[in-house]
Amino acid sequence: MRLRSPSFLPPTAVLELTYMCNHHCIFCSCPWEADRGFEKMEEMSTEQWQSVLEDLCELGVSSFAFTGGEALLREDCIALLDFASKLTALKTETVNGKLVQERKTPELYLLTNGSTLTDEILDFLAAKDIKLSISLPGLYTFEKHTGFDHADNVLQWFGKAKERDISTTVNSTVTALNINELPKTLSAAFLAGAGQLLMNRFLPGGRGLLYEDELVLNLEQVRGMLSTADDILVRANRTGHLGTEIPLCLLDGLELKKLQVGTRCSAARGFFVVGPSGYVRVCNHSEHRLNHITDWKNLKTNPYWKTFSMKKYLPASCRSCSRMTDCDGGCREAANVKLGSVDSPDPLLT
Ligand code: SF4
Ligand code: SF4
Repeated sequence: MRLRSPSFLPPTAVLELTYMCNHHCIFCSCPWEADRGFEKMEEMSTEQWQSVLEDLCELGVSSFAFTGGEALLREDCIALLDFASKLTALKTETVNGKLVQERKTPELYLLTNGSTLTDEILDFLAAKDIKLSISLPGLYTFEKHTGFDHADNVLQWFGKAKERDISTTVNSTVTALNINELPKTLSAAFLAGAGQLLMNRFLPGGRGLLYEDELVLNLEQVRGMLSTADDILVRANRTGHLGTEIPLCLLDGLELKKLQVGTRCSAARGFFVVGPSGYVRVCNHSEHRLNHITDWKNLKTNPYWKTFSMKKYLPASCRSCSRMTDCDGGCREAANVKLGSVDSPDPLLT
């Protein structure tokens, strides 16, 4: 019998539980933090989120990243993680060259700024094998980036999570203000106990648009950021990856040993986003609300979804490039936010 995936939805869903946040990050790319018409609508109830989780598991989504805003500000965040941990998802994967389908507990991730973590929450994450990602946008510039002075608090949670054997990621957005302290920031996180790195280059969007001139990295800074992070990863014997894709031609001459850098946009193919009110977006950087998740079947014919799922967005300047099969010309949503269409050049190339 030929195995078929239960739906066309990508295997990973990013669940933005809430618009609320207690930090005021100047690099925040949440579209509701920009004054560009993306309203905060009513958030889904606990029951609605539970139903979404059940449905997505049946549709073959097997990995969920709980985020926000700040996910832990939703009073039911832990209850929803607990609910998800008791579900099984229909997972289709290739094992030894064969397509295999089985029911498995979904992989669960909690992304947080760390401000409201407690020992009890860590105990729960450890018991449920939920992976933890904490944001650390600099040490000395932490306050400048977030509005609060508690980088030490984040570092201590990495230590406490390590004691409980929780898989952790330090999530660091690199800007022109914190790039000089990147070696110190990453070293401090790894010394404190962080397991791996998820690094993002600052992309224009959300509240970050107001601070773009101060924060945006130029091409040389982006290349420097990649080599610096790779160097620290080698020394710390850790792995890491860049969460925001890079034009492949900007990597020429760089030899990265431990840092994985994506050059293909995975929006609507590797993952998708369910926002606080239940509307799907192709990526967390996207300003475009598509169908409600309860109407997921019609995503298949939604023109915006199709642009991403069928990769119809390569910039004109890239169409004669011999490497276009390995590259999507950088971040397609940053191009859209900054230059008004998904097939504009990545802002780094302008
Ligand atoms: S497709 Fe565009 S961005 Fe990618 S390597 Fe070619 S020219 Fe560079
Ligand atoms: S739009 Fe694509 S390239 Fe940009 S951050 Fe999202 S997944 Fe990455």
